Amino acid sequence: MFNLSSPKLAVILLTPVLVLLLLAFIFIDVPEEKPVPVMKDELVQDPVDVEEPLEQVTIGNSVSGRPIEAYTFGEGDTHLLFVGGIHGGYEWNSVLLAYALIDQLTATPSLVPQDLQISVIPSANPDGVFAVLGTEGRFTLDEARKVTDTTGKGRFNINNVDLNRNFDCKWQPKSTWRGTPVSAGTSAFSEPEAKALRDFVLKKKPQAVVFFHSQSNAVYASECQNGILPVTRDIMNAYARASGYKAVDIFDAYEVTGDAEGWLASINIPAITVELATHETIEWEKNLAGIKALFEYFGH
Ligand SMILES: [Zn+2]
Repeated sequence: MFNLSSPKLAVILLTPVLVLLLLAFIFIDVPEEKPVPVMKDELVQDPVDVEEPLEQVTIGNSVSGRPIEAYTFGEGDTHLLFVGGIHGGYEWNSVLLAYALIDQLTATPSLVPQDLQISVIPSANPDGVFAVLGTEGRFTLDEARKVTDTTGKGRFNINNVDLNRNFDCKWQPKSTWRGTPVSAGTSAFSEPEAKALRDFVLKKKPQAVVFFHSQSNAVYASECQNGILPVTRDIMNAYARASGYKAVDIFDAYEVTGDAEGWLASINIPAITVELATHETIEWEKNLAGIKALFEYFGH
């Protein structure tokens, strides 16, 4: 028979209870005692870096609320930024090229020289991608090859604004695309997609920015009012030499106002435009060679 007043039995019954209490205490307490990395603490004020400072962050949202993401690799002081998809689904291959770069750097982080930090914004106009492909986030080459945007509808954001005319360099409400008038928004940076890119640039202060577009089959320098920056010309030539694309100082097929590259030039950030040869290929080996040439130019 059990004797409930027996001290021995009390110990037997209470021991598991105490162990459970102790475990609960340990597990509840662990997160509080875990040291918070200093960098994360410093970045807590800024929404750009709240989630994963050196991996993947949402830098803003499209008009329809689709996230615009940035992936960052390396922890060096010199920051380079690569941007795909500002012309959305019309140039979906520029999005796939940016994702190919993300995959490459994820698989081989050692590609990034120690003094560099590389950010990639793969899809700067996710509503434009959705308008053509009907997909959110990543998509495959097979999915994309089934559709071709011959009208150019997916080039614009949901407000029908050409985002690469919405930046603060010679901005005008109407600009052109191949001689056709396009909306450049109600003011420079009126569109949330352009704002997200602007804010990320102003925060990260990259040494250079590379935009992927299609399909002019060349690498272009940039300028706003004061001519081409010397570093811009250098990196255009370095990328062109390594990749095999032709280097072109000024895009003069038709007049462009409010382009992102021009805005960067106006704030002294070198920017180049890489135009793929078609709307359906990413020309990976050529571009990887060009990207590595930039890593070499800026890194040690
Ligand atoms: Zn484009």
